[in-house]
Amino acid sequence: MKKKTQMIHGGVFGDKHTGAVSTPIYQVSTYKQNGVGNFTYEYSRTGNPTREALEKLIADLEGGHRGFAFGSGMAAISAVMQMFKAGDHVVFTDDVYGGSYRLMSKVMSRFNLDVTFVDTSDEKKVRDAIQDNTVAIYAETPTNPLLKITDIRAMRSLADKHGLLLIVDNTFSTPYYQTPISLGADIVLHSATKYLGGHSDVVAGLAVVNSDKLGEELHFVQNSAGGVLGPQDSWIVIRGIKTLALRMEQTEKNTAKVVEFLQSREDVTKIYYPGLEDHKGHEVHKSQATGFGGMISFDVGSGERAEHVLAQTRYFTLAESLGAVESLISLPAKMTHASIPADRRAELGITDGLIRVSIGIEDADDLVEDLKQALDSK
Ligand SMILES: *Cc1c(COP(=O)(O)O)cnc(C)c1O
Repeated sequence: MKKKTQMIHGGVFGDKHTGAVSTPIYQVSTYKQNGVGNFTYEYSRTGNPTREALEKLIADLEGGHRGFAFGSGMAAISAVMQMFKAGDHVVFTDDVYGGSYRLMSKVMSRFNLDVTFVDTSDEKKVRDAIQDNTVAIYAETPTNPLLKITDIRAMRSLADKHGLLLIVDNTFSTPYYQTPISLGADIVLHSATKYLGGHSDVVAGLAVVNSDKLGEELHFVQNSAGGVLGPQDSWIVIRGIKTLALRMEQTEKNTAKVVEFLQSREDVTKIYYPGLEDHKGHEVHKSQATGFGGMISFDVGSGERAEHVLAQTRYFTLAESLGAVESLISLPAKMTHASIPADRRAELGITDGLIRVSIGIEDADDLVEDLKQALDSK
């Protein structure tokens, strides 16, 4: 089954009891047992048919063994981290999503799960960070907001050499453009709040594992710690995924036009987009993904100038988050990455004048026009 077909027919199609074409929302907590211990579903934390339809769908799309749906991307990441134990060590991409950084440095650290943040786009740095107690490499590719690229296959080789799990946050590329399991990842994570949901109307997280053993372990954590996604929200994510391919294609077309416009501007000093040939990691990304996505970051020189531009846009809504039908604009240094100390931000290259945009599916001409009037205004 091809990807676009899978988005409609993957997982559980419709409802075999009624013939309903759309997966019903099983708004239920408990289930009648036919006899003690004789049941298909027992309790909705352990399993729910609507959530299961989504879990099977994402497992199919990622080409994995088993999928899991959580109440948020962070709940999914937390659950995966709870598969490890005190004294274990994980190597993380240094410019990961701020929430993942906070989870590891401020929460998981309380339980002595040790972490080193390194630039995973540099294989040697990852190799040097591996210790005797390292159990996993965790990579985000492309990253946020600098769109840095990690070579997933190279991470697989390193993981093999040291007996590590490879975990990839695939939120930015989505399974339409990139399937990390096919490149060697053991676990794939998603904030389904972003492209998979796609309409800024749900917070959800997904995880997919590549083996029965990891499936058992993660289900044990999901059921024990309990951060499950509810049936309504599971249904909303399923509906979002049905149009994922269409949205990604339109987003990418629009993004190419916006990038072209930004390139024509002398007041834009730097553009970060994996689709640009001179973007570091462009070739690696091309070798592991079929699209470049809809996230662009660009520098307008100063924080003051950036705030001015943000205040002028009409179609780019000033907001955190990304991956929705509407275009969003943000200032990482003051918003998503404000919790990162200024000197650390500077080290990473997240300057005060850096603007991040998430391109939506509006008409590209309107988006370009909007950025143009915002940049032109004094
Ligand atoms: C948003 C995001 C998360 C966290 O997901 P939530 O659904 O907000 O909890 C994790 N990783 C990436 C790359 C994200 O963009």
